[in-house]
Amino acid sequence: MRLAIGGFAHETVTFLPETTEIDAFEHAALRGDDIFTVLSGTNTDAGGMINACVQLRADIEGLVHTAPPPSGPFSDAAFDAYLAETIDRIRTLDEPVDGLLLHLHGAMATDSRQDPETDYVRELRTALGPDLPIGLSMDLHGNLSPNLLDNVTLLCGYHESPHIDMDRTGERTAELMVRTLRGEIAPVCAMAKPGIVLPSIFTATRLAPLSDLMAKARAWEREPGVLDVTIFTGFAYADVAPIGMSIVAVADNDPALAQRVADDLAKTALHMRDQLYKRELLLSVDDAIAKAADIARNASKPVVLLEHADRNNDSTHTLHGLVANGSLKAAVPYLYDPEAARTAIAAGVGNRVTLKVGGNSSDRAGGPVEMTGTVRFAGPKTYTNSGPFRHGAPVDLGDCALVEAGNVTISLISTLEMAMNEDPFLQFGQRADDFDVIVLRSKTHFRAAYEDLAEEILIVETPDWGPADLSRLPYRNVPPGVFPVTE
Ligand SMILES: [Zn+2]
Repeated sequence: MRLAIGGFAHETVTFLPETTEIDAFEHAALRGDDIFTVLSGTNTDAGGMINACVQLRADIEGLVHTAPPPSGPFSDAAFDAYLAETIDRIRTLDEPVDGLLLHLHGAMATDSRQDPETDYVRELRTALGPDLPIGLSMDLHGNLSPNLLDNVTLLCGYHESPHIDMDRTGERTAELMVRTLRGEIAPVCAMAKPGIVLPSIFTATRLAPLSDLMAKARAWEREPGVLDVTIFTGFAYADVAPIGMSIVAVADNDPALAQRVADDLAKTALHMRDQLYKRELLLSVDDAIAKAADIARNASKPVVLLEHADRNNDSTHTLHGLVANGSLKAAVPYLYDPEAARTAIAAGVGNRVTLKVGGNSSDRAGGPVEMTGTVRFAGPKTYTNSGPFRHGAPVDLGDCALVEAGNVTISLISTLEMAMNEDPFLQFGQRADDFDVIVLRSKTHFRAAYEDLAEEILIVETPDWGPADLSRLPYRNVPPGVFPVTE
């Protein structure tokens, strides 16, 4: 048995003003055997697919795989290029494959396409014929359209956010594909959409009541005939028609069972929709800093200030507050600002430098903060991810500088890498508990490391492009009846 492995994934924030060009996808692209060399053994979808294929003695072929970090809408040219390359690589393989395993995100959007995943699979089907089985391994934050199911054989998504089960999801997809090709099962998929949009900050799967919904999905998976169930929580920051939660059930040759499972879980989700919005956890910048100062007085671990609404890794709302406060020993890891990084690198390690940092990506990002401090590190930085989320995957920060300005230590980076574990400290000879407070921008993934590393996690609601209050976003494409945007 031979299977081909590829990936084309991006979480697209359609509200962001800057387009994501093809070079962002190329920066993250792997081709042919490099997919196995780089991703084998990593906690990624492809890593899991490779692992399962090796275990199940399926031969594998690498196609093209790219999954750059979240950013603004990407160009139609990028969509066309990776689709054409995937088709071309499949057609020109030395030996034909029996099935296709793909990692797609589910919340992609291009300049003109609101549902690129459905288009992508439809185009593959048209080019490759009706018989080639296609299995998808997808992100829990996908905004899925029922049309996606028209051309896929089976579909699995993450069960966890933080996504600590990317590899397990790739394994599930590959295992079901192998069993299908052996004639042991005949998967059929069904989808239900309860009409709920959930801000990413409320998609942490271990927090009740979302954890109850997840538990119910796992219970359904133990029922005879049910092969796989995914609660896709959806992605609120894409203004697209298929926005929102989608429940996908895969059953063995029983479409009615698959639909019954999806409908049952959608009904449960609808009942808990108000409780899924945990508004009581949201704090203003000033309140969060005051509360952090209180906690820090008697804490042995740092307090996380979660500037979750930042969608471009450069918001400065909390940084402005911390500079004004001055008394808290604060870390601001991985602020995206290539220009400030270059200026600090030019100043050199050990030297003083005055910088205007961050706040530039949009008129909601808070504006730059002027800081004068000492450069502690300057230069390019790459390493292997040591945290639970995407464990073992390569990280490239590009040109990077660590600057200490009074009580605030800031690392400036040139790629859209997000601080989610202790690497942003360990890589520079520091530790998380060197600080009173740490500003993070991750939505849920940081929890895999910081529920242990942090004394407390305080969620800061700022005016940026990823707020918990969705009424602040200019949606135009959401159909009627989707809570809370159009209902
Ligand atoms: Zn996700």
